Amino acid sequence: MKKFLQEFKEFALKGNVLDLAVGVIIGAAFKDIVTSLTDNFINPILQFITAGDPIEKAEIGVYASNFVTAIINFIIMAFILFCIVKAINKMMTIGKKKEEPAAPTTKKCPFCMSEIAIEATRCPHCTSVIEEEKEEAAV
Ligand SMILES: [Zn+2]
Repeated sequence: MKKFLQEFKEFALKGNVLDLAVGVIIGAAFKDIVTSLTDNFINPILQFITAGDPIEKAEIGVYASNFVTAIINFIIMAFILFCIVKAINKMMTIGKKKEEPAAPTTKKCPFCMSEIAIEATRCPHCTSVIEEEKEEAAV
């Protein structure tokens, strides 16, 4: 189960999957604008042409506000999506940083070649005093 979740995480965080999801969501949101355009502009005009129903001023106001609402919804949705994508990208870079090897915490004693703490000034194995400057010059 843990491996499954790990695989899913890798799958979900892949850039192309994210792009696809963004495309689908934007597409769905854009469809709402097109639907609104049809409902609030094209249909009333068709109705006027075919049935001769006069479009009243009050109705035009309602249609216009419906359409503006659809556009505002789209902008809000796109903004939220942008924030989510930004957050996920940040998550991905944090994940990548973790994969990088950690800074070395040990060094080799120049006298006995044992691994010792990087900040050690005296070797715990051979008790030699390690001079920091020499160590840096050697590197
Ligand atoms: Zn040593």
